[in-house]
Parts: sequence; structure tokens; C-alpha cells
Amino acid sequence: MTLWARWHHDRMIKEIRVGIVRVVIVDDQAPFRDAARMVAELTDSFEVVGEAETGEAAVEMVRDLDPDLVLMDVNLPGIDGLEATRRILAGSDRTRIILVLSTYEPDEYAPRAAAAGAAAYIPKSLFGPDALAEAWEAATAER
Ligand SMILES: [Mg+2]
Repeated sequence: MTLWARWHHDRMIKEIRVGIVRVVIVDDQAPFRDAARMVAELTDSFEVVGEAETGEAAVEMVRDLDPDLVLMDVNLPGIDGLEATRRILAGSDRTRIILVLSTYEPDEYAPRAAAAGAAAYIPKSLFGPDALAEAWEAATAER
């Protein structure tokens, strides 16, 4: 490879890597983690780098992996998704969190999600590649 080709190649790889959104999925239910992984992988440039079953494990995992995005279930054993969101954001300037709501009404949880620092929320019933891409755009537009 010539020097020019090498430089061009390296730059291209770097640009591609920069565009990748590294995602951690947090949910206590395996079927939803699997579904969320499928949705993330169907969404352009999203890559799942980790899964956690509890809020406490999520806080630790984010410290280790420094992901771009966490998809966080609200209803978890131990600390809930709102508290895990607060703890993660207290330790990271760059990780953004999208809360994924399950049994709760969005109307009830929207203000609580915002107060905890979540960038967006998606009801589980609406969770899919389009909703995820839209929430990510909203999350990155605000900072
Ligand atoms: Mg749950």
C-alpha cells in the first residue's frame, strides 16, 4: 500500500468508527434484551457492546465500557432505571440514556425521565428501529 493509500484507508476507518453508536442494553428480562439487541442491530450504525440485568450492574458496565448510549429499562430489581440513570450521568459527560418504559404510562414517566437526565424515552410497545433512530437524533441534537 502506498503512503497515500494507507493514509486514506486509515482516515476512512476512523470516520466509520466515529460514526458508530456503541450501545449498552439494560433490562432484567432476557426476551426484552434479545429484542432490544435485534432492534439496535437493525438500526444503522448502532452496535451493542454490553448487556446488564440490573441497575447496579449497568452503572459498573458503563464505567468500564464508556458507551455512547444506554437503553435503560425503568422497572428493575434493586435500584430502578431512573436511579441508575442518575448514577451513570453523575459519572459521565458523554453517555446518553434513553429510558425504555414498560408497564408505566409515558405521561406519568416523561417528567421523571427528564428529571433523572434521560435524553429521551420510548414505550416498549413502540420500540423499534425507527423509534430508536428518532430518539437518538433527539438525544444528540440537544447537546
Ligand atoms: Mg424490567
